[in-house]
Amino acid sequence: MSIEFIYPEFEIIRNENRCISCRVCERQCANEVHSYDEKHNIMKCDESKCVNCQRCVSFCPTRALKIVKSDCTLRENANWSTETIKEIHKQANSGGVLLSSMGNPKPLPVYWDKILINASQVTNPSIDPLREPMETRVYLGKKPSKVQRKKDGALDCTLPPQLELSMPVMFSAMSYGSISYNAHKSLALAATELGILYNTGEGGLHEDFYCYGENTVVQVASGRFGVHADYLKAGAAIEIKIGQGAKPGIGGHLPGAKIVGDISRTRMIPEGSDAISPAPHHDIYSIEDLRQLVFSLKEATEYKKPVIVKVAAVHNIAAIASGIARSGADIIAIDGFRGGTGAAPTRIRDHVGIPIELALAAVDQRLRDEGIRSNVSLVVGGSIRSAADVVKAIALGADACYVATAALLALGCHLCRTCQSGKCNWGIATQRPELVKRLNPATGSERLINLMTAWRHEIKEFMGGMGINSIEALRGNRLMLRGIGLTEKELEILGISHAGE
Ligand code: SF4
Ligand code: SF4
Ligand code: SF4
Repeated sequence: MSIEFIYPEFEIIRNENRCISCRVCERQCANEVHSYDEKHNIMKCDESKCVNCQRCVSFCPTRALKIVKSDCTLRENANWSTETIKEIHKQANSGGVLLSSMGNPKPLPVYWDKILINASQVTNPSIDPLREPMETRVYLGKKPSKVQRKKDGALDCTLPPQLELSMPVMFSAMSYGSISYNAHKSLALAATELGILYNTGEGGLHEDFYCYGENTVVQVASGRFGVHADYLKAGAAIEIKIGQGAKPGIGGHLPGAKIVGDISRTRMIPEGSDAISPAPHHDIYSIEDLRQLVFSLKEATEYKKPVIVKVAAVHNIAAIASGIARSGADIIAIDGFRGGTGAAPTRIRDHVGIPIELALAAVDQRLRDEGIRSNVSLVVGGSIRSAADVVKAIALGADACYVATAALLALGCHLCRTCQSGKCNWGIATQRPELVKRLNPATGSERLINLMTAWRHEIKEFMGGMGINSIEALRGNRLMLRGIGLTEKELEILGISHAGE
């Protein structure tokens, strides 16, 4: 042992009475934790490599394994937590920026859990969703703010391009490269079956997935990877990615080691070259510049597709959204600070940005106050974990929600939070062929469809309980929400009353 030694975070408990030395755990672990000692006919393990992905636990045929958090304690105190001390040691060892994946894990307020939903009693009776129709369909895009008539006085019912979703949820951006071919295929299949959309992220669209175009959002990010005319025309909508909740203000980096084969072709960059997305778009320094890109993309697609502008939730998000709503964009997507990522500097992920709940409430209110709410639809993401979060987001003013981490969990992710290693044992955040094939797209899409079907039932139950029979009637209906344990200022920003009022 040496000054560089850090005690492993997890310990592997193997029940020797149950273990039959079948070596399944050894084959299932890409981190090479388990090994077989032929001389003594026993299994051994190197716990320092374990990330607690639970793959070996799930596949052990005799349930001989469990992973527990190590109880080896450092002399922590309220100021110097074990995590902080370990991070200092890691940086002193490596001299590098700490990298993490998935969303901000800090114990900051989760406002969704401090908001309660209303239900009808006595008057305005509730609706039984099993017996009466409930409308969960939504249309995203610009809406007219007043009734329009043609020159002859007839009603003008033409609308700018709209996205139709069977429920107010979309799978948010995850690039091919950060996640596997089979993960992308699972999302594409499920989105098509569900009548919603998935999102290419910034890695381009694999040629095999053009057939799912009607259920695809194609993204244009600062690196412009894989962007060409056919790509833009392939999707149902185009998303300009300005920012991401997990790493606001900085760019992205997919290491050259992952730019191989199809990923290099799809991104249109040479094999082995690092895919670096610059922090800003080099042609956008003002709302006028953004407007130029919005209209260039509309021009390139004959004004047939809505354009989404995605930004991270940051301090002055209401003013930023107000500018975007005037840029010609049809939809604004806002990503909160708990949004996931395949890789981000730990310090940025954990300390930059604001909660999506506050950002959403502030943006919706600002756009209403300025009379431009109908200029754009609002889509919010950044840790939407359940149907309850969706309902609360809609009532706070969102038109729909972006879901990513929950979708990955449905695909088998166990939130080991080491996507950046490229060794995802569940075949999701990896490009290793032997790991990718562990995720069967048919099974993956079925699980995604199950999850969303369950959420749709739950959304209908919430709405029925409130006596509301359509998402449209719930949108921005903050009277249906109450805060619990929040300060006056928090309630003011959220635009809701306290429970009991
Ligand atoms: S998978 Fe289970 S039974 Fe097989 S070697 Fe590992 S611990 Fe033992
Ligand atoms: S990394 Fe995953 S598969 Fe490997 S030992 Fe740990 S829990 Fe098991
Ligand atoms: S996608 Fe894979 S590597 Fe990433 S957190 Fe989930 S299980 Fe871990």
